[in-house]
Amino acid sequence: MTLFDETVGDMMNESILGRAQERDLIRIEAHQIRAYTLNKQKQVDDYPYGGGHGAVMQADPLYQCWKHITDAYGPGHTIYLSPAGKTFTQCEAKRLLRDYEHLILVCGHYEGIDERFIEACVDEELSIGDFVLTGGELPAMVVADAVARMVPGVLPDPECFEDESHWSGMLEYPQYSRPETWHGRTVPPVLRSGNHALVARWRRKQSILRTFRRRPDLYEKLDFSSKEDQKLLQELMEEEADFQPRR
Ligand code: SAM
Repeated sequence: MTLFDETVGDMMNESILGRAQERDLIRIEAHQIRAYTLNKQKQVDDYPYGGGHGAVMQADPLYQCWKHITDAYGPGHTIYLSPAGKTFTQCEAKRLLRDYEHLILVCGHYEGIDERFIEACVDEELSIGDFVLTGGELPAMVVADAVARMVPGVLPDPECFEDESHWSGMLEYPQYSRPETWHGRTVPPVLRSGNHALVARWRRKQSILRTFRRRPDLYEKLDFSSKEDQKLLQELMEEEADFQPRR
């Protein structure tokens, strides 16, 4: 539900998500809130009660749009994208994919939306981070993309996302592509060795190191109890002056 249905539609019909829609694996529709207003001027916002600057999106145009969607497609789990919502993470994306067939994403604008629509129709509020954007379209596209790419068949293999940052609480290892040397920088030799076990070991070690250096909050929660991980931690401690193992 948006005031910018064409922009959202264009973006969501491109590339991987566009092809997934052509193959009927997912369907993403952008509904223009203004199209469902019952007033002649197609007005969707008005002054805030209590004064102050800006405008607030009115409850009724939102409700009429929401009602049209739920009448046409059945009930959907309704999410209002809001800086005051719970922070959206990979874990939340997995939960939405697991628990719901149909999501309705509500994009606010101006100063936000009338609280009574939230009370009546919204199941949860999600924020994409502790900052404020001008509208909910980018956050809605972020949520739609993060969930849709995990729908079976959208990416060629589940490994495509299971191997990535945040799937198992770690950050991904560094990636390289051709050429072998670029501006005097060469690809780590192990990646050209053809030894899959050594490559996997190197990648896990790099993931640990990267998570330790960049995201101590995530690193603190990791489980390194396996023998193999204990060996990697020992090696990292010997090789990297700043590295502090967790056992
Ligand atoms: N007055 C609101 C507040 O202080 O919480 C901010 C309104 S913001 C300018 C307009 C719209 O952008 C919101 O209704 C929401 O849909 C969207 N938005 C802005 N920042 C967001 C964020 N971090 N996460 C999710 N949605 C956001």
